[in-house]
Amino acid sequence: MTPIPKKKAEPEPITKEELTPEEIAELEKTEKEIAIEKEKFMCIVHRGKIVGNIYVCPNCQAIYCQNCAKSLKQKGESCWSCGNEIEIDVSESDAKNNDAM
Ligand SMILES: [Zn+2]
Ligand SMILES: [Zn+2]
Repeated sequence: MTPIPKKKAEPEPITKEELTPEEIAELEKTEKEIAIEKEKFMCIVHRGKIVGNIYVCPNCQAIYCQNCAKSLKQKGESCWSCGNEIEIDVSESDAKNNDAM
């Protein structure tokens, strides 16, 4: 009886083309960091970036920040771009000041 050496049935781990962490990092870099910046809305009144809520003229789509839109409304001014009435609710913030009219 010749002893037959048992071959291991386990398959050898195949060396895949594995990426090293460095390579992976490199790939991720390649996808450019497309930082989708929020569209920068510029208020046409104070000519600056709008922080917070915006008001868009329903007639001409001119963009205001809400503060400017409200102050225009309170001054009785209209849309600077098209002259459309500013359709914004100013009652809640400034109800007190309106009795002078
Ligand atoms: Zn307008
Ligand atoms: Zn503004």
